[in-house]
Parts: sequence; C-alpha cells; structure tokens
Amino acid sequence: MIALVTGASRGIGAACAKRLAADGYTVLVHYHRSAAAAAALAAEIRGIPVQADLGDFAQIDRMTAEIRQQHGRIDLLVNNAGIALDGLFQDISDADALRLFMVNVGGVMHTVKRLLPDMLHAHTGCIVNIASVWGECGAACEVHYSAAKAAVIGFTKALAQEVGLSGIRVNCVSPGVIDTEMNAVYDAETMAALAGETPLGCIGRPEDIAEAVAFLASARARFITGQVIRVNGGFYI
Ligand code: NAP
Repeated sequence: MIALVTGASRGIGAACAKRLAADGYTVLVHYHRSAAAAAALAAEIRGIPVQADLGDFAQIDRMTAEIRQQHGRIDLLVNNAGIALDGLFQDISDADALRLFMVNVGGVMHTVKRLLPDMLHAHTGCIVNIASVWGECGAACEVHYSAAKAAVIGFTKALAQEVGLSGIRVNCVSPGVIDTEMNAVYDAETMAALAGETPLGCIGRPEDIAEAVAFLASARARFITGQVIRVNGGFYI
C-alpha cells in the first residue's frame, strides 16, 4: 500500500509518515523546502521523498505525474501541508492572503484532483485532510487561516458525498494546539495559557494526530466518511 503524506518533513506530517510506515505503508514523504529532513525521514522509514510547492498548481501537476508514473495509484492521501498567518485581518497583505489560500485550500483540492481519477478507476481509496480547530470555531488574528481550514472541512464533506459510491472515503482530522514549529511564533506564556484553556491540561503531540489519521486510513474506519474527527484535548467540544 502506498500513502502520500504532504508536509511530511516535520511536525504532524512527519509523525503521520512514521505511523503509517509502521502500519505497512510505503510512504511518499512530501516536502517543500526541507529536503534534508525529508531525506532523513524517508531513509528511516524506507519511504520515498517527493517535492513540490503546493501553492503552485504546475508543481502539483509535475509531482503527481511523477508519482503516477513511478508508483501507479496511491491508496492513501494525507493532505497535511499547511501554513499559518498571524496578524490582524486588515494587516495581512493581499499577497499573503492569496498565498495562504493557494497552499492551504488550492494545494489540497488540486492534489486531490490529480490523484482522484486513479482511485475512482480502482473503486477504492482514502483521503484524510488535516483541518484545524480554528476552522471550526474561528480565531482572532488568524482569520485567513480559520477561513481556509473551514474551506477544507467543507471540501471534505462535499467530496465525501460525491465519491462515496465509488468506494472512496474522505475525512478530516481537526487538531487543537499541537507542539510543532508552526506554533514557534507563540511565546512560552501563550503556550501555557493555551494548555490551561484545554480541559486535558496540555497541548497535543504530533503523534496524537497521527494516531487518528492511521485509524481513519484503516479498515476499522470502513463506515466513516465525511467526518471531522477532533483531536484537541477538549479545547473545542
Ligand atoms: P509545520 O511544522 O509548520 O510543518 C509544515 C509542513 O508543511 C512542512 O512539512 C512544510 O514543508 C510543509 N509546507 C509548508 N508550506 C508548503 C508549501 N508551500 N508547499 C508544500 N509544503 C509546504 O506544521 P504542523 O504544525 O506540523 O502542521 C501540519 C498541518 O496541521 C497544517 O495543515 C496545519 O495547518 C495543521 N494544524 C496544525 C496545528 C498545530 O497546532 N501545530 C493545529 C491545527 C492544525 P517544508 O518544511 O519542506 O517547507
């Protein structure tokens, strides 16, 4: 079985790649800039690095064509890569706003568009999109990010309805605050406050998300599609 995990060079994506490799998948370890980290992880889990800027449709076309040529159909697509933008709504530049939507929404939808036909043809496949708690409840100073993640949730629900009869399941994992480089913008005080606001009293680990992804990818989740699985320590219920 072959899985493509986008943004697998670090953080949640790297944890997903390791977890899925442990489950027996050959993992295509996608990265954008972190070539060395992706190569090291691929060596560790006997995966294969693949590169693309997911904010650029032409690069997605090139990467997915290479994947199809070298590996044929993939069984599992984990759309994890994403970027965040911190700041007041009106202070975010038009270029940054467009870039965030191109990576976080366009990248997800276009990657699916290119890899879905093989799944449809084979009448099987699984897609897991990584959303965010902010896409469910919204966050001040992360308005573009929240809107983009809400779009990922909407995309998941709609596509699940369109492709269910074709044997393809589409779900989201919606993480709460997870200890990765994405949150390096926050100081220790802010992270402690976020942990304090979480009923389970701590922030999550990348492995917590990987566990939910592995479950959704497995046959144990055969009757689950179109769902948003919250892994957030109770931060949003
Ligand atoms: P991270 O540590 O910042 O890692 C981001 C990953 O995305 C990296 O592998 C990076 O690749 C890749 N990436 C960034 N820009 C890209 C682009 N233009 N094209 C292709 N790949 C790109 O992030 P993370 O915290 O693990 O987050 C992973 C996912 O979970 C994201 O979708 C994020 O929105 C979501 N999420 C995270 C949290 C959290 O608290 N951490 C909470 C909710 C949701 P390179 O390193 O190769 O550049």
